[in-house]
Amino acid sequence: MPGYHNAATETMDRGSLDNLIDERVRYTVKYAEEHSPFYRHWFRENGIDPNEIRVHEDLLHLPVISGRTIREHQPPVTQDFGFRSAGWGEIFTIQETSGTSGTPKSFFLTWDDWRRYAEKYARSFVSQGFLPEDRVVVCASYGMNVGANTMTLAARRIGMTIIPFGKCNFASRVIPAYRPTSIVGSVFKLIRLARRLDSEGLDPKETSILRLVAGGESFADESRSYLAELWGSPVYNTYGSTEGTMCGECTAVSGLHVPEDLVHLDMYDPQMMDFVSDGSAGRAVLTTLLPPGTQAGMLLLNYDTEDTTTVLSRSRCACGRTHMRIKNPQREAETVWIFGAPVNRVDIEASVFQHESMEFLTGEYEAFVTGEEEPGRLTIQIAMECTDPEKVDHRLVEDRFMECFTRRLRALGPHISDQTLLLEFSYVRPGGLELHAARGRPRRLTDRRAT
Ligand SMILES: [Zn+2]
Repeated sequence: MPGYHNAATETMDRGSLDNLIDERVRYTVKYAEEHSPFYRHWFRENGIDPNEIRVHEDLLHLPVISGRTIREHQPPVTQDFGFRSAGWGEIFTIQETSGTSGTPKSFFLTWDDWRRYAEKYARSFVSQGFLPEDRVVVCASYGMNVGANTMTLAARRIGMTIIPFGKCNFASRVIPAYRPTSIVGSVFKLIRLARRLDSEGLDPKETSILRLVAGGESFADESRSYLAELWGSPVYNTYGSTEGTMCGECTAVSGLHVPEDLVHLDMYDPQMMDFVSDGSAGRAVLTTLLPPGTQAGMLLLNYDTEDTTTVLSRSRCACGRTHMRIKNPQREAETVWIFGAPVNRVDIEASVFQHESMEFLTGEYEAFVTGEEEPGRLTIQIAMECTDPEKVDHRLVEDRFMECFTRRLRALGPHISDQTLLLEFSYVRPGGLELHAARGRPRRLTDRRAT
């Protein structure tokens, strides 16, 4: 088992950890009252006395804000940035989220914020077995996303070497030259990289890579297994956002550890009316936790991340860490509702990445929902890329898909049986999917129903 980056905090017993969290809730709320124009107003407007927020359970009685709230309190809607909570002299960087819709959200980071972000990633890397000797190619993009820069700062803490390509299209000579021990990237980028290296005569399994770190989007266990098989090395998951989550899987691979002393997560039901208990899926609502005496350029209390996850455990992990573990979060924006059931991109992805099917498929896919729920019939059109469309065992691929899909979405079984929901499959050559022509983050599940 690897060691710890911050053993005292990471292995703290639950009682002490809860006390630490509550102390930080009080300081963060006080900091918000004193420094955040938005929250000062929010407390007044909602009749909240900041002095009465004493413990983390008190947060459950407060309203929830969203990305929209941030956009409504920044230019061009307002003249100033209502969420900026430190003077310009203290702000080190301004970040923007790529924003799938509308104006990007602005985030203000002080050096204290960067240090806390780096601490979270350093813990995650160490929990995945990284040591000072490691050499890591970062394929996540530098720039307005905090991920790549935060990992680079984390590497400095650990003492390891970063090779900051920022993209996965680096020349294959890099592998034998620097003998990197790890690559950080998205699942699909790492699959494509393996395939490219292979076509250039470099077997990914024979390289110096000891482990991969996948992040940037949620993925199915099936696509992770496939990636691990291609590289012959374990794949660890990280989940991070500019808002300050940054959770990582340890070598026990039993959920992502949430750095509970630095970020607090509550789980709400999808209607945001109530919170859900551990073990049930809910929307993750985030609260920044500041250690007393520190600053924040922008803090968030009760912020809806629009990601869905489940608390798996709050007890000690096999790795010795006590910080709670959550399931791989899924984006609400990648969920479509079909006959009242939530179908996420990951459900489609898991069904594509069936072990036997991958003999024919590249893993690239896209799906469209068409038709009308009332009164007629709905279709999910699934297009899958294959190395050679002439040589696909359609029966096998479609049977495996259906088995997996109906197992994940039992509620849709009756609709598939009575054919009110049809699944249509097509096979394309490499490069033949619509998403290859689109810019930005590929949309793999698109709702094309008439509204
Ligand atoms: Zn663990």
